[in-house]
Amino acid sequence: MRRLLWFRRDLRSEDNPLLCFGGEVLPIFIFDTNILQKLQKDDKRVSYIFHYVSKLKEELRLLGLDLKLLYGDPVAIIKELHALYSFDEVIASGDYDAYAKQRDLEVSHILHFRYLHDTYIFKHDAVLKDDGTPYYLFTPFYKKALQLLQNKNFKALHLASHTLIDEAYKGIFSFDGLRFRALAFRIESLGFIAVSLEFQTLQTKIEALKQKLQNYKEQRDFLDADATSHLSSELRFGVIGVRQLLRELLSHPHSEPFIRQLLFRDFYAYLLFHIPYLETKNYKYGFNGIEDIKKYQNFCEAKTGVPIIDAGVRELLSSGDMHNRVRMIVASFFTKDLLLPWQWGEAFFAKYLLDYDKASNVLSWQWSAGTGVDPQPYFRVFNPYLQSKKFDKEALYIKRHIPELQHIEPKYLHDEVSLFALNLADYPKSMVHHKEAAKIAVEIFKKKM
Ligand SMILES: Cc1cc2nc3c(=O)[nH]c(=O)nc-3n(C[C@H](O)[C@H](O)[C@H](O)COP(=O)(O)OP(=O)(O)OC[C@H]3O[C@@H](n4cnc5c(N)ncnc54)[C@H](O)[C@@H]3O)c2cc1C
Repeated sequence: MRRLLWFRRDLRSEDNPLLCFGGEVLPIFIFDTNILQKLQKDDKRVSYIFHYVSKLKEELRLLGLDLKLLYGDPVAIIKELHALYSFDEVIASGDYDAYAKQRDLEVSHILHFRYLHDTYIFKHDAVLKDDGTPYYLFTPFYKKALQLLQNKNFKALHLASHTLIDEAYKGIFSFDGLRFRALAFRIESLGFIAVSLEFQTLQTKIEALKQKLQNYKEQRDFLDADATSHLSSELRFGVIGVRQLLRELLSHPHSEPFIRQLLFRDFYAYLLFHIPYLETKNYKYGFNGIEDIKKYQNFCEAKTGVPIIDAGVRELLSSGDMHNRVRMIVASFFTKDLLLPWQWGEAFFAKYLLDYDKASNVLSWQWSAGTGVDPQPYFRVFNPYLQSKKFDKEALYIKRHIPELQHIEPKYLHDEVSLFALNLADYPKSMVHHKEAAKIAVEIFKKKM
């Protein structure tokens, strides 16, 4: 068998089902120009991917393979590769957003496409109700998933033996006249700027996580507690396989609250798979937000005048990350206090989050907006001041990201009226009065039910 092994969201050699298929193989990774051309030149994700693709290339070398890096439109590239090498099949792990599905469909018209299950714990048809239909509520999905987990086997996969296709006979990877070309192994070849990022080994992160598990449930919402795994980007790009992670954690006595979050990740991808229009459209309520460029700009520039919101946006812009609790507070403020379309907020996060994942982001935004499948009830509007008072009592998080507020006592930062009265010279006054804004939002949703 002659196989094209296409690495995408599975940038690792360990426990990768792609490597369980042997024979004559050509492993590839494609820097997809359809995606790259929409990104800013200093996009952190390109540096992140570049780091792990380089690592994967080294790992595959140890297995006698070589990862070919390609640049261009995946469908065109695979068409040309197939014309040159006559593969029996292309193999890749599932990728389920609308763009990925269309791309894969087009590739499947060129040659046989073997789709593997890797990214999530469960296949999309594995956790179903007794009548065979999908769950639309998280709690029953979770209960069923937990039952199924007990019988699931997460043993390490065995790699097949491979022979690398002798690429030399076509000279394709040094041939520039094709619509794709082999890359010089530098990020600048992609037209991007290298951004320096900190990388910890997976083992370091997993060992740290094991120490955190006992207090994870109680501490994960506190902004300065460092109580979570910081593994979302590694999971997003498959640098760690979710099966590997479960192997490490399932027997741990305090792992359940953490596994619950992993199952949220599964649930959101499952919902997007079963209801694809969720990617852009509401499931509930006819209210689509009110487009207001000025409000949106203030938000994007961290000038809302609400400390916890501006701190969150600054964290995102500077690091590519935002604490989960702050993501929830920000998304609620954006859709309820500012009444902006959730799709705008989703797009803003999509631009900057290192762990950006279509399913998790869209479904979380729809949850916060109250428009999703199993959303936050529309009448529950987070009070950003009470949230910061509870989860950032000493305002350490706020002050870290907004040094202009360093000298202000925390009690002012957690109270709308007192903060407003301070008349600060170097920090804007709040764009909205939270209590009034929340009342208006609830009225609007009531009418659109
Ligand atoms: C508005 C909004 C947008 C979000 N966008 C994304 C996104 O684009 N990509 C993304 O990976 N997560 C997203 N999340 C979920 C969550 O904020 C991040 O997964 C989490 O902050 C990552 O930190 P961690 O790895 O330390 O999480 P941990 O608490 O250690 O959780 C472990 C893993 O579970 C998964 N997870 C945790 N919470 C959630 C959740 N609520 N929904 C889905 N998966 C979860 C992640 O893969 C995470 O790495 C979003 C949440 C909100 C409220």
